[in-house]
Amino acid sequence: MKAIRRFTVRPVLPDPLGDLAELARNLRWSWHPRTRALFRSVDPHLWEASGCDPVRLLGGVPPARLAELSRDEDFLRRLGEAAGDLREYVTGERWYQQRAGGSGHLPRAVAYFSPEFGITAALPQYSGGLGILAGDHLKAASDLGVPLIGVGLLYRHGYFRQSLSRDAWQQEHYPVLDPNELPLTLLREADGTPALVALALPGGRSLRAHVWQAQVGRVPLLLLDSDVEENDRGERDVTDRLYGGGSEHRLLQEMLLGIGGVRAVRTYCRLTGHPEPEVFHTNEGHAGFLGLERIHELTGPAVGFDTALEAVRAGTVFTTHTPVPAGIDRFDRELVARHFGPDAELPRVDVGDILRLGMETYPGGEPNLFNMAVMGLRLGSRANGVSILHGAVSREMFAGLWPGFDPEEIPITSVTNGVHAPTWVAPEVLALGARQIGERRTEDALSVGGSDRWDAVADIPDTDIWELRRTLRGQLVDEVRRRLYDSWRQRGAATAELGWIDDVLDPDVLTIGFARRVPSYKRLTLMLRDRDRLMELLLHPERPLQIVVAGKAHPADDGGKRLIQELVRFTDDPRVRHRVVFLPDYGMAMAQKLYPGCDVWLNNPLRPLEACGTSGMKAALNGALNLSVLDGWWDEWFEPDFGWAIPTADGAATDDDRRDDLEAAALYDLLERRVAPRFYERGPGGLPDRWIEMVRRTLTRLGPKVLAGRMVREYVEELYAPAARAHRALDVTAAGELAAWKARVRAAWPRVTVDHVEASATGATAELGATLALRVRVHLGELTPDDVEVQAIAGRVDPEDRITGATPVPLKPVGGPDQEGRRVYEGPLALDRTGSFGYTVRILPAHRLLADGAELGLVTVPSEATGEAAGVLLR
Ligand SMILES: *Cc1c(COP(=O)(O)O)cnc(C)c1O
Repeated sequence: MKAIRRFTVRPVLPDPLGDLAELARNLRWSWHPRTRALFRSVDPHLWEASGCDPVRLLGGVPPARLAELSRDEDFLRRLGEAAGDLREYVTGERWYQQRAGGSGHLPRAVAYFSPEFGITAALPQYSGGLGILAGDHLKAASDLGVPLIGVGLLYRHGYFRQSLSRDAWQQEHYPVLDPNELPLTLLREADGTPALVALALPGGRSLRAHVWQAQVGRVPLLLLDSDVEENDRGERDVTDRLYGGGSEHRLLQEMLLGIGGVRAVRTYCRLTGHPEPEVFHTNEGHAGFLGLERIHELTGPAVGFDTALEAVRAGTVFTTHTPVPAGIDRFDRELVARHFGPDAELPRVDVGDILRLGMETYPGGEPNLFNMAVMGLRLGSRANGVSILHGAVSREMFAGLWPGFDPEEIPITSVTNGVHAPTWVAPEVLALGARQIGERRTEDALSVGGSDRWDAVADIPDTDIWELRRTLRGQLVDEVRRRLYDSWRQRGAATAELGWIDDVLDPDVLTIGFARRVPSYKRLTLMLRDRDRLMELLLHPERPLQIVVAGKAHPADDGGKRLIQELVRFTDDPRVRHRVVFLPDYGMAMAQKLYPGCDVWLNNPLRPLEACGTSGMKAALNGALNLSVLDGWWDEWFEPDFGWAIPTADGAATDDDRRDDLEAAALYDLLERRVAPRFYERGPGGLPDRWIEMVRRTLTRLGPKVLAGRMVREYVEELYAPAARAHRALDVTAAGELAAWKARVRAAWPRVTVDHVEASATGATAELGATLALRVRVHLGELTPDDVEVQAIAGRVDPEDRITGATPVPLKPVGGPDQEGRRVYEGPLALDRTGSFGYTVRILPAHRLLADGAELGLVTVPSEATGEAAGVLLR
């Protein structure tokens, strides 16, 4: 019989156990081993059965057991300690408070918007790297005391769970998540009614949402949920699935995230007294509408769009996460137009102004599409990619928005991603660290960083490291057998057919891991390029390999599902099935077991399409060595001392097939000649000394760098703090002045010219150490020297006469304008390097409130024949 209604009966905890509820509600348990151990001891069997989920655990513990625990002195003592520790963690001074004490310009609060958050397997609201990164960002912010508010959507079916059919085709299952059974609390008004966020939709409909709050250590995470009774059926389904549905569905999700998200933040701050955010961080374009809502908030009779845009931009940070076009949302202009304006959302903002923000105004841009990344760049005064290489790729990719500037001047910086070590380091690794330098210092090393703490790894004896690796590998082997068994049962096999699974993988064989989503650029099946060769490697009599593979294809991506099928069919072959396995349902729970157990973490994307990649960092923190294409973070931090770089054939004019052949061959060679021999080689003491040394170097050299704590500190110092300063400087009055100034400069710019440039040597001729006096005559039209900067740019020139690696030097105006309104600028030009040397000058708009000289996309350079000038009007 089917129930007509369901609800959840929350457990009643006996008074002495009251703190358990708070410990379960705060997701810090997910990265705090002692709290987890406490929950486990409530009921070890139930803990495993609940998937290590405290809320489910407490929902299932029999009252008799609770009564027993409430009289258990030892348990009560540990409970008291854990609760005290959490209170201390949540209220104490941390890195940010110490920093803020010294410099009063750090933001009072930062709102961090993301379409997905991977905090723990118990809150499955993520699909892959972007979400896990967002979760790690919140956790690291919490550890550092950064006053962040996370904002996202609550997907009632999360992302899909993956299984396989008998013939290895991906099957998708959507769990039904009941927020009452998740570690969430409903945000309520003072009178107890649920707080409601509402959006106006075309045709007089509305989209309403409740706000659920997850507590991530010190950081609240607000999740909007449209599945509420006040909504019509269609609107209830807006937050049904992550990355599901067609264009309109996605647009509504993103409007709810961006616009509804800002409203949820306002409600939260009103109800709790939390300071209002001064900085809004848009994690990937999907959340970009947050800027529009804030423009709308400011817009009124006295404040126009341009002024509001300036005020909002100042405090907005935009992070782009992918150079892959399919990863960037582009909507039909008409669709966007229909959802905004007088009869829909943001009635005070002109629809034309909104549409212009998303226009691809660059060569090859599509005029009928609205590009969310482009809007993100226009709404954010500060933007970044997620590794040094990805920053460079992004500057090239979006250079068209700032024509006239060299790619290196495009105002997109980079902050290389990091991972939250306490989440990703296996308890056994933690324990070894604690034995070496103590628990407290290990925790600090993992969350805050500091390479001195990591240096202690150098003193860990070889035998301990090797024993640890063996233990972790052994645990992975057990886990793989369990999962493989479940998978085969699901694929319809009978128990009697599955005896072979007991011999799958070997705890002493070199173990390689490869797990990730399955978009084509990640090349899941590159290892299958030459199957015979792979088979030889797997079955090598002295130096065999074993490989564990996992990954989900997007439900709409049949190409990706075919790759999975191809791979699984290979792993089904009785000749190799004990040496290579595919595990379905890659997710955080599996990842936490998989990374530590692998000796080598493999990554072979098509360079440079992997913006950063983070799984290799998590593996490294557990002592796995990386074997990867030089893409993303590995391009930045690879050293032969602790890993291997797979040579790539990018850049060369090779076709895709040939490139795959070349790179796969390089991979096999490395595995056969370098990786396997090093793993199996034994030193005088019977241990693989050189391998162990690489493990040690991985930990000491990469450990401190790959931390999310390092990443969040960089965001605070390089992006949040400057954005907060700019936000404070740009109140509505200043924003109005800046907007008016920009409009005036744009209008006047076509008449700004460089008329004449001359350089005279003071000493002899051009020799090292000489200084030239540079004299430039410019015409500023209606502008004054206060509106511009005239710069000299000098340095090495390449064969095409392009100046590279130069720092612009401002020139000084001398005297007033002549009768024709021309002005002279002067400055020294030092010949500080030998070889080909070149110089030029240019004029840029200048204003103390600009975040970057390229911001307006305006620059004037001398024309080819100096004396004439080329004015370039951009954007
Ligand atoms: C870390 C992680 C990812 C992202 O890994 P990449 O290396 O960026 O592909 C994806 N899924 C899960 C479950 C992860 O833990």
